[in-house]
Amino acid sequence: MNLKITLLPGDGIGPEVTEAAVAVLKTAAEKFNANIRLTEALIGGSSYEKYGVPLTDEVLSQCYDSDAVILGAVGGWQWENLPHNLKPEAALLKLRKALGLFINIRPAKVYSPLLDASSLKPEVLKDTDILILRELTGDVYFGEPRGYTDDEGWNTMTYTREEVERIARYAFELAKKRSGKVTSVDKANVLETSQFWRKVVHEIHQDYSEIELNDMYVDNAAMQIVRDPKQFDIILTQNLFGDILSDIAAMITGSLGMLPSASLGKDYALYEPVHGSAPDIAGKNKANPLAAIESVAMMFSYSFQMDKAAEIIEAAIDKTLQQGYRTADIYFPGNILVSTTEMKDIVLENFNRIYDEQALGVFTL
Ligand code: NAD
Repeated sequence: MNLKITLLPGDGIGPEVTEAAVAVLKTAAEKFNANIRLTEALIGGSSYEKYGVPLTDEVLSQCYDSDAVILGAVGGWQWENLPHNLKPEAALLKLRKALGLFINIRPAKVYSPLLDASSLKPEVLKDTDILILRELTGDVYFGEPRGYTDDEGWNTMTYTREEVERIARYAFELAKKRSGKVTSVDKANVLETSQFWRKVVHEIHQDYSEIELNDMYVDNAAMQIVRDPKQFDIILTQNLFGDILSDIAAMITGSLGMLPSASLGKDYALYEPVHGSAPDIAGKNKANPLAAIESVAMMFSYSFQMDKAAEIIEAAIDKTLQQGYRTADIYFPGNILVSTTEMKDIVLENFNRIYDEQALGVFTL
């Protein structure tokens, strides 16, 4: 299999975590006989410094010509006072829009060795494995009219049938590969847009009678995620509610450095850790690379249907944590403190060992 991938390391810790992710990507690709053509390019502040804009048309064309894009992170204090359209973060919005990405997928999965890193009780969290599917193109973020005066502010919450249908279908298809359960989150008791969302989700559900569909109001969902997260498998939700719920779910995993994400469209896909460029620790070899490495696992699974490669990457991360290795953000007394590069090396070592054990038919975790 030939895979064309564009790598956009970005700013701050972006290059450090993507270097680790690419090392895992190359090793996994080699083991699974995939031929990777990786092209690296600038985005964010680093692109602004060289080209005067945070995302050039050449880089965008390169992304159009790729099977998947891997991004590190963008941003930094040096660029905070630039006009809005030249800020590093503007590149992200432009890229997501240009690639037509309409679903954001964020797993909130708790690795058992990290149960103590969360602010929730270990017994509440154990075995939690939620996928939040957030719609990305509709809702109050894009609805018109919008604006404010001295006396009034307004936004428009809106969804088209096509926008709801395509993400609902994706959620039900994905549920077939997981536990067969989807919770659709809305605010249909108050908002007409949500009543429409619910109606369309149920219409699409008629094609998926084997999947269990539940509706939940967003205020209840926020409460249930921290009360009993294990009850959820796939949460399907509107842009605004997904923005908030995915951050709540994020915190149950303990650290921003553990959170990967995928943004998918009809033709393109972007994989990136959820965290930012972390200027406070940039260049110090301290960043946790696991979110970036997990983003590569998501790419194997969602873009290339190489589920086995993804599974072994996940198992290698789990093993590394079980062995007690931790970067500073997830370190507790008694753990073994490691740098970004050391963490990468240990994950790679575990990846190779687990792969070899599986190849020999003696898979043990
Ligand atoms: P941040 O995610 O960069 O950092 C928040 C805190 O978490 C910091 O203390 C940081 O050290 C820590 N942290 C984040 N990722 C970590 C990792 N992998 N390992 C260890 N610790 C980690 O958020 P911020 O400080 O609000 O923003 C910094 C810059 O990043 C800003 O310019 C912001 O606009 C940008 N940003 C970019 C993205 C993106 O590229 N997708 C997302 C969020 C913020």
